[in-house]
Amino acid sequence: MTGVLGPAWTAKPDTPEDTGRQPLAVEAVIGSHAAALVPGVITTTPHARYLALHARLAIEARKRGWTEKHDLDRFRDLVRRAEVVLGAVSVAHSADQPGEHRARSGDFGAHGVNTIGREVRETNAADVGRLADAYSQVPGGYLQTYAGIEWLVGLTDGGRVPTPGPAADDLLLSALDEVVGLAGREQPLSRRDLNQLRHLCLCGIDDAPDGECVRRAYFVDRDGDQGSARIHRHSASLLVGALDGGEVSGSLDMAMDRWCCFTPGLPDLLGSDELQHHALTWRGALLRNWSVWAWRLIWAELVSPFAWRPGTREEAIEQFVAQLPDATVRQSLVGDLPPLVDAGNGRPLPAEHDLYHHPRNANGWTLVDLLRLLAVGAGRLAHLDPVSREAFIGTLPDDLGPEYMARWLDRNNDRPLADAAADLAAHLFQRAESVSRQKLQWTRHGLRLPTRLRRIGDRWRLEGEEGSGSVSLRLPTFTSVMHQLGVLAVAGDTWTAGRHVEVIR
Ligand SMILES: [Zn+2]
Repeated sequence: MTGVLGPAWTAKPDTPEDTGRQPLAVEAVIGSHAAALVPGVITTTPHARYLALHARLAIEARKRGWTEKHDLDRFRDLVRRAEVVLGAVSVAHSADQPGEHRARSGDFGAHGVNTIGREVRETNAADVGRLADAYSQVPGGYLQTYAGIEWLVGLTDGGRVPTPGPAADDLLLSALDEVVGLAGREQPLSRRDLNQLRHLCLCGIDDAPDGECVRRAYFVDRDGDQGSARIHRHSASLLVGALDGGEVSGSLDMAMDRWCCFTPGLPDLLGSDELQHHALTWRGALLRNWSVWAWRLIWAELVSPFAWRPGTREEAIEQFVAQLPDATVRQSLVGDLPPLVDAGNGRPLPAEHDLYHHPRNANGWTLVDLLRLLAVGAGRLAHLDPVSREAFIGTLPDDLGPEYMARWLDRNNDRPLADAAADLAAHLFQRAESVSRQKLQWTRHGLRLPTRLRRIGDRWRLEGEEGSGSVSLRLPTFTSVMHQLGVLAVAGDTWTAGRHVEVIR
């Protein structure tokens, strides 16, 4: 695997809130895969046109002779006003022609959509200065959010007052000159003004010159770009293959899973060795994510009684194992799994999907199916090709990976499932306690333990809910940007390759 690309912001620690939501610390492997497979893309950067806008504003800062120290406030004011112009045009278009807007830009609203949307609805206009004070709590608006990807693809240097990067093409980005002009406007933009500015909407970037600039930045090799353009082309190519012909409402992760992990004859469909290798790395990451998700769900289930009332560990464990069938580990977790590979040709079969589609209980997964999902992960070790296997295992020690689970199954095969699961649950409590001690941190309010589980004597209480969603491989944001750039398109309810798909071939 390639290491984490980019400077500090891509490696910055999670916010305390995120940290509290990773109580078993099993998620890092997926974050590092995402950073390597879709470099620079994070879950909060869904819009291609903000990249172009920030590059255009970097050019503007250079024109005006602004430097970091003296002009930060003035620059930030310009960023905020320009983002409001882009947001207001997009909010108005989305309200007037929701179908057309959505077909070309997807489901993510413009940044600040609630604040801007309310003003446009209530006043039929957008006061740029007033909205610029209100649409975002962060001084520089969304500039810092996008700084990592903008630096990586060479649009800016990622600075607080950024300078234009090697991919910031002045001529192509002049398509956004009008936004810079409107940012300084005192008169509110009327609904009619906003309608006439529709070419500046988030959904209008694909065929506009600034779209060409962003596509080149993302996909065309440049000296010193550390190969990120090639990685973006490969991941985009797999994404188009995974989605083409599928329903827009379907799950992106499942589509990518089906394509990279379980498609018969995939090597022939992909062609180049390099792309095949990339697909196998994705395969390892996607398959591992099922196990990571299983641990998150198991922990959320284990501590869920504490959300109702404080209790002891022993009470929680008792309630936990009461859901399990009366059988040995071997009978329920090894003997009773869906097939992992095609016996004829050794190709992986979608055992994870079989479990996912099993009948659920009221809360979703049954506990025994979650344990089976972990057993499927352990079983994959014996069959995966070397490239997928390496990605599947990852490089982090002690993160409850598939090898841990394989050892656990070996040790416990002949024990009653409930007994073995009770010991596993006790181990998870110890692990969570040790994880949260490591996260103990000084804040300006004193020593803080970023955890949702609090101990009061021998009793435990859960504040809020533990995270139980799957960890993001950042496919929603990556897909959104590819869609807006015209690499992907929507026809009716279906994904297709977009008009500009050639740029990734
Ligand atoms: Zn639009």
